[in-house]
Amino acid sequence: MDKISPEARSRNMSRIRGKNTEPEKYIRRLLYHAGFRYRIHFRELPGKPDMYFSKYRTILFINGCFWHRHEGCRFATTPKSNREFWESKFSRNVERDKAVYEKLEKEGYKVIVIWECTIRQMMKDERHEKKILIELIEDIRDNTVSYKEY
Ligand SMILES: [Zn+2]
Repeated sequence: MDKISPEARSRNMSRIRGKNTEPEKYIRRLLYHAGFRYRIHFRELPGKPDMYFSKYRTILFINGCFWHRHEGCRFATTPKSNREFWESKFSRNVERDKAVYEKLEKEGYKVIVIWECTIRQMMKDERHEKKILIELIEDIRDNTVSYKEY
């Protein structure tokens, strides 16, 4: 077991808020090698999606569990001090995400969200990596899917 406190871990996890984080680069690399081509941080779409697969009208968001409040996830902790500040900040984040996904879906885009904790597990476990990658590839190609979360 590691000795890092849940709060410290959340702060570490929160680094994904930045651009071009390790989990982001990792997912890009996987999908690039799987033959997909995409735009990154695509400004012309709501929410500036992390990845956009125009051929499949598919959008992929790579979400940090802390900032985007992954429900039920151990990394979605709330700092003990300034609780009110954090709670209002978090609820704004969640509302914003929801609005962005709805808008995109309404415009006929497929939205896929991959949570950071899923990616970290993929990075550690080759079997898990393979399993998720196979599902992800299917979902990107499948135009009957409108929303999916990993
Ligand atoms: Zn999570």
